[in-house]
Order: sequence, then C-alpha cells, then structure tokens
Amino acid sequence: MGNPHVIAIPYPAQGHVIPSMECSLWLVKNGIKVTLVNTEFNHKRVVESLQESEKIRGTINMVCIPDGLEPWEDRNDLGKLTLGITRVMPGELEALIRRINESEVDEITCVLADCGLGWALEVAERIGLRKKALFWPAAAAVLALSFNLPKLVDDGVIDNDGRPLKNEMVELSPTIPLMNPSSFIWTCIGDQTTQKIVFDVLVKTNQAVKLADWLICNSSHDLEPGAFSLFPNISPVGPLLARNRLGKSVGYFWPEDSSCLTWLDQQAANSVIYVAFGSFTVFDQTQFVELALGLELTNMPFLWVVREDTVAGAEKAYPKGFKQTVQGQGHTVTWAPQQQVLSHPSIACFVSHCGWNSTVEGLSNGVPFLCWPYFADQFLNQDYICDKWEIELRLDKDESGIIRSGEIENKIQLLLNGGIYKERALNLQARAMDSATQGISRNNFNNFIEWIKED
Ligand code: UDP
Repeated sequence: MGNPHVIAIPYPAQGHVIPSMECSLWLVKNGIKVTLVNTEFNHKRVVESLQESEKIRGTINMVCIPDGLEPWEDRNDLGKLTLGITRVMPGELEALIRRINESEVDEITCVLADCGLGWALEVAERIGLRKKALFWPAAAAVLALSFNLPKLVDDGVIDNDGRPLKNEMVELSPTIPLMNPSSFIWTCIGDQTTQKIVFDVLVKTNQAVKLADWLICNSSHDLEPGAFSLFPNISPVGPLLARNRLGKSVGYFWPEDSSCLTWLDQQAANSVIYVAFGSFTVFDQTQFVELALGLELTNMPFLWVVREDTVAGAEKAYPKGFKQTVQGQGHTVTWAPQQQVLSHPSIACFVSHCGWNSTVEGLSNGVPFLCWPYFADQFLNQDYICDKWEIELRLDKDESGIIRSGEIENKIQLLLNGGIYKERALNLQARAMDSATQGISRNNFNNFIEWIKED
C-alpha cells in the first residue's frame, strides 16, 4: 500500500484553477501526494507563468490532457469549452488514471473534481476508485440554488431548460440574498445556447453530488450560514488562501507584474484604489473611458489591472493624454499578484467584478468593495457583499447602461468617507479568518485530510 494520492481536476478557467491549486498545496502540506490535471492549453500558461521561486513543480505533480478544442478556438466561449470538455476529457482522464495506477507505486486513491466536472466521479466509479470528492470554488448559495432546480421547475419558476417563467424573487433562506430569475448563474451567461449548456452542467452536478463522499466549498459558515444550514452535506473549508501558506497564489494564466508591489510600497497607508475585474470581464470603449476618467477624478492613487484582452484597441482605448495626466497618480499592470496586493497596507478599497475568489480575497483582507458585476454568479456575490455583509456599495448605470465617471468618483468618496465600510470589512475579515484558521472550516478540512489518509 503506497501513500495517499489525490488526482485534482479544476474546471479550466482561471477562477477555478487558482483555488484548486491552493487546495492541492494544502493537501501536499499535509503529507498527501497530489496530481493536478489541467487542460493542455492552461497547463502551458500556468507553467510558463510560474516563477522560479515557486517550487510548485516539486510539490504538485502537474499533468495535462486535451480539452477537445482546437488550439486557436476561444476558451472564453464557455458553451463551446464545456461541450469540448464533456466530449473528450472523461476518456482522457480515465486513460490517465489507469496509466498512473499501472506505473506508480503510489496509486491514485481519491479523485477531487470541480463541481463543474461532475462526470469525473463517474470515471472514478468506473475505474473503481474508492474515494470521490467534489470541490466548489464559489459561493455555497450557488450550489443551494442548483440543488433546488427540481423545485424551481415544480413551482413554475423555470422550465425544464432553465428558462425563467416568472419574474418573482426567489428566497432560499433569510441569510441568502433574494435571487431574481434573470440573474440566476446560468441566465446571465452568454446566449441562450450557452445558458442551456451551463444549466445542464448544474443538473449534472446534482447527479454527481450523489456519488461524492465529500463536497467541500471554498467558503465559510460565517459568510453563508443559510446555505450551509440548508445543505449540511456541503462542507465549508474556506477561505483557502495562499497568504495562509506561501503568501502568494499560484496557477496564473498570465505572468504577474510584481512592479506594482514596489509601487504600492511608495504609497501612503490606506490610500490606494485597487481596480481589477478578474480573468473574463471585457469592456467596451465608452465604459473603459468612463472608468479611466472616474479614477482620474478621484485624485487618489490607483492600481488598475488592464489585461491585454480587457478592451479592444489596447493602448489606444485610453482617453487622450490619460497616461501622462495620471502619471504619479496611477499605475496599470496587465496582471497583478492579487492576493499580495489586497493584503498590502496601502490598499483602501477594491473596485471589483465580484468573482467569488476576488470577493473572498478582498474580505479576507478587510478591504471594502465597490461592486461592478459582469456575469454568472457575480450578481449574487454582489448581493451578499452589499446586502448581507454590508461592506460594499453598488455602482449605478445611467439610462444608456453606462457607469459614468462621476458615479465612480462619488461612490468611491462615499465608500471611504467615515470609515464605516472599513470597520465592517475588518469585522467580517476577523470572522472569516477565525473560521479558516481555527473554526468550522479548519475542522472540516482536517477531517477531509484524515478521510483521504484512511485505508
Ligand atoms: N487575479 C490575479 N491578478 C489579477 C486579476 C485576478 O491574481 O490581476 C486572480 C484573483 O486573485 C482571483 C482570480 O484571478 O483569484 C479571479 O477569480 P475570480 O473568481 O475573482 O474571477 P473570474 O476570473 O473567475 O471572473
């Protein structure tokens, strides 16, 4: 009998790969061998973006399989990506596990798959792996909604394809934000075909959960008491943050520009607006210009992540003369080491798209938010942050659907004046971090580790 060996498989998107690698590194730290399976496309990006100092190659065994798309096809098209994955990856994963188990002393004993890849548990079942677990790197409330799909259909809220039939708000629990069917995770993603594909993934997740011995979630009981009471089979283990381990995260698709940390060192404490919209969000030209002008108007230092694909036209997209005008005020990078940035003492607030990882990283560092959701679960996360945790303000669009520079400036002033949002953010930070270091999340994770190690 060899050492316990977990095969971890994240959904191939940045917001899933980073937390899956965090989780894997925690397992490794606790004496468990981990093989992490990325798609070939992402594996290349992750390996190329790793810095020499990140000895990840020695700690996690990083391998890859194809995702079913041609090299030039668009991985941001979630519908297409999901279809490619479902067609190709189950067979590839099965072959990979069989190969490893024939050739290595430490046979794979446990599969830990992203909830979005529920089919991986069927593969594990087929091969006869005894231990099967699911990892959910987003809010437990999204799973709670997913578990309620049959009821939503019975109540006539949605049809069998997930299309909303009513406009009534849905309340799953008093501590979960009310949900508008037009902002369900699948109804605000892409076109109708993509929405159906994402809906089907959730249906599949519900089936996979029945095969899982554990369902762990990168959230905490303090953040989402309602969701965890409704579904005690979801075990909170978060926030699983790099800062508890190495101080920085790994698994980036783009090389980080750490010049921003030196720049932050030169700014006053609690003075910088950090602006970042995760890995998917794109801006049209008008909105991009309004954001740039809004930041300039604040007269405050700002650190702004502008990925190469954030806006069409790259450098030309900025307002004329912007870079010169804000020289000395602002700093832009194409990818920041976000967790390090958010824990820097000079950060005052976070203008965020409210992806779950950004949400958890911001609140774990006691940073107040200005919300700018874009798609999928980000509207739900915004409602948590603004209405349940009250550490954030929403940005309002004008009648043409644009968030204007004046609105950005006003809301930043409102957020930072008086310190009330900061105070609440610090309270929430204390609760979330207690849970991760000594509370329910910590206990759950310890029990999960013990279970993996059991014969
Ligand atoms: N991130 C980063 N540097 C950046 C922007 C984002 O390291 O410049 C990381 C961020 O810390 C988070 C992830 O990318 O862990 C984005 O995940 P999230 O769920 O917030 O958003 P998504 O990209 O899935 O929309």
